Amino acid sequence: MLAFARKIILIGAIMGLTACSSGPMEQRTLMVFGTLVEVMAATDDASAFSDAMSEIEQRFQTMHRDLHAWKPGMLVDLNNAIANGETFCVSDEIAELIRRSAEFEQLTGGRFNAAIGKLVGMWGFHTDEPVQGRAPPSFLDIAKVLEAKPSASDLSIDERNCVTSSNPMVALDFGGIAKGHAVNVAIDILRKHRIENALVNAGGDLRVIGMKHGRPWHIGIKNPFGEGAIGELDVLEDESVFTSGNYERFNDYEGVRYAHIIDPSTGRPVMGVASATVVHPDAVLADAVATAMVVAGVTRWKDLVAAFKLRQAMLVDEDGQIHTTTPLRERMKASRK
Ligand code: AMP
Ligand code: MG
Repeated sequence: MLAFARKIILIGAIMGLTACSSGPMEQRTLMVFGTLVEVMAATDDASAFSDAMSEIEQRFQTMHRDLHAWKPGMLVDLNNAIANGETFCVSDEIAELIRRSAEFEQLTGGRFNAAIGKLVGMWGFHTDEPVQGRAPPSFLDIAKVLEAKPSASDLSIDERNCVTSSNPMVALDFGGIAKGHAVNVAIDILRKHRIENALVNAGGDLRVIGMKHGRPWHIGIKNPFGEGAIGELDVLEDESVFTSGNYERFNDYEGVRYAHIIDPSTGRPVMGVASATVVHPDAVLADAVATAMVVAGVTRWKDLVAAFKLRQAMLVDEDGQIHTTTPLRERMKASRK
């Protein structure tokens, strides 16, 4: 509940940066994956906006059910089938997320791995709020998963979207790209309803299209150490800004903070990084790479900048030191209000 309240304050602080507007603005808030999603559109077509929002709401409800990693739905059924060595047929949406996850896994050198759901669950993150004071899993249990090397590439998908796994230890968890996917879906629906100037903000992770009445949208980059923003950016046309961090979901046990991003090579939560931010037109890519950058850490995050040919990315270490690519640093300086 506390984390939920904090999210609301955070969104308020970030959206405050975009609040002043010099023209008509439609605005609605929805909920998906436990996150408030704020949709703003610089339009005077209230009816198109309302139609778009009804469609987005419906899609979000389906997504929430189908993509949930631990509540009853299609993904949980798929994971149960995989564990039992059975084939299971899925929606186009899940098939596409599996394909993209396999691609991200390969390009991030395994740092992004949507097949490590067993580890995420073992560390206590398959609950709405992580239970504080919960003991870490045993070395033996972690080793069992690591030895099996679960990977999205263990899955094969036929032309009818029927999924078969060669590895029963695979359990899919799309937590690392779900918000990016939801944001992309919302933008596609807005465009279908001819809304070309909009901002979709899922708890500080966002994508914008077009402009805000002839001016860029002014947004904040999430501050991993508290409320508000660590940097400001003018964004326009088609850009997503996604931040992953160890501050979002965690369990404190005997003075150690175990956070929700797991290093697939050790099976343990990542330490040493406060947050990573990626700017890219595709919200799913930005979301996946931000998660992978937290795993890569201070010494290797630039590998991912190179692998994805990113111009704008940033990493904040646990001491608060900010590492950025030069184009993003220059842009944040220029955007400061
Ligand atoms: P994000 O907030 O986008 O960084 O996503 C974090 C969520 O992704 C976690 O809560 C897990 O559900 C999942 N996750 C944790 N570690 C990884 C990883 N190494 N690769 C992919 N997904 C992960
Ligand atoms: Mg992510």
